[in-house]
Amino acid sequence: MAELQSVERALEALLKDVKAGDVERIECETAAGRVLAETVTARLDVPPADNSAMDGYALRHADAGQWLPISQRIAAGYAPEPLAPGTCVRIFTGGEIPPGADTVVMQERVETQDAQAHVPGDITLGDSVRCRGRDVRAGTPLLEAGTRLEAAALGHLAGQGITQVSVYRRPRVALLSTGDEIIEPGQSLAPGQIHNSNRPMLSRLLERFGAELVMREHVADDFATTQRLLREAAEQADVIVTTGGVSVGEEDHVKHALESLGQLDLWQLAMRPGKPLALGRIGQARLVGLPGNPVSCFVGAWVYLRPLMGALLGCPRMATLPRLWARAAFTTHTQARRHYMRVGLEFTTDGIVAHAFADQNSAVLSSCLEADALAVVPEHTTLDEGERVECLWLTD
Ligand code: AMP
Ligand code: MG
Repeated sequence: MAELQSVERALEALLKDVKAGDVERIECETAAGRVLAETVTARLDVPPADNSAMDGYALRHADAGQWLPISQRIAAGYAPEPLAPGTCVRIFTGGEIPPGADTVVMQERVETQDAQAHVPGDITLGDSVRCRGRDVRAGTPLLEAGTRLEAAALGHLAGQGITQVSVYRRPRVALLSTGDEIIEPGQSLAPGQIHNSNRPMLSRLLERFGAELVMREHVADDFATTQRLLREAAEQADVIVTTGGVSVGEEDHVKHALESLGQLDLWQLAMRPGKPLALGRIGQARLVGLPGNPVSCFVGAWVYLRPLMGALLGCPRMATLPRLWARAAFTTHTQARRHYMRVGLEFTTDGIVAHAFADQNSAVLSSCLEADALAVVPEHTTLDEGERVECLWLTD
């Protein structure tokens, strides 16, 4: 039997020479999940002026401890007049501090009578003032190239008044589901058939990983169909993802069809689930052939497709999943293959506990339902309950 290859070697082969795609300029409104192709520099101070963190009264700190006439009212959204000497101003959260004032006192601490306010003497200079540029300073880097635009980044861009950004093109992916037994949901099952679980599952994961799905086809188990659809996929896609048909059975046609069109490496990996993995190319398109079992597809997507999408999207952070250590709430042992066990994480005051779904067979998709992480049990290991196990957190 051929020697088993490590996951690391397969990843290296998969990611070799992969570069981010073209750059395009898009509206921030539609930029969620995209990756910046430029470092964005702040052009504005945020906040643009000193403003009040409280509803209260603004004054000169030196005037505290006495009754002061209230000379102005400043709500958020209105430009203040300079502070008249020896007075204070009524101010509301977000209101701009008038020139000459330096401190705000919250209204709960202030007595008022006849358009005068009494401010206590024990206040600290600068209290409740949010200084200009505290959040962002104009001219400094706001977001680095390679940042995936999620909620906070989008808010930050908007804070600068920015409406367009340069991002990398989304990787175009063709998803091909092989298998004569596979039919789509909505069609009734004849004897021998099963519904296509991999297609919606991988579609969703690929979308989360930033891909654009340009083709989704079912592929019958025959050489000519497989060859035709692979050729079609290679014309449109950066990446062709196939499921099933990469074992060495007589009905596994992906290998031969791919060899007829491009090049293929069929890997036997030291991992469970998902021992066979096909990596290849047809012209410019890369092919990742996952085995058909839904759990192998699920795990393979996180382990292989996520870093690949990250590289094509120009997002270095997607190269690896966040790792954490947890105490195993289960016992297991491995032989020649590293086991990626689907585990639920429980966050306790004593640390993180990993609970494994009872049936870890690669055909049992239920094991992925509650999976927060993949616990990685190395080759030739006995893991006892209570021991520490490294987990890959399944998160964006
Ligand atoms: P294969 O890798 O083609 O030998 O398939 C391995 C196992 O996964 C077989 O039991 C298939 O029926 C099953 N399988 C393949 N593709 C799918 C799919 N799209 N959805 C659900 N099960 C699948
Ligand atoms: Mg098959």
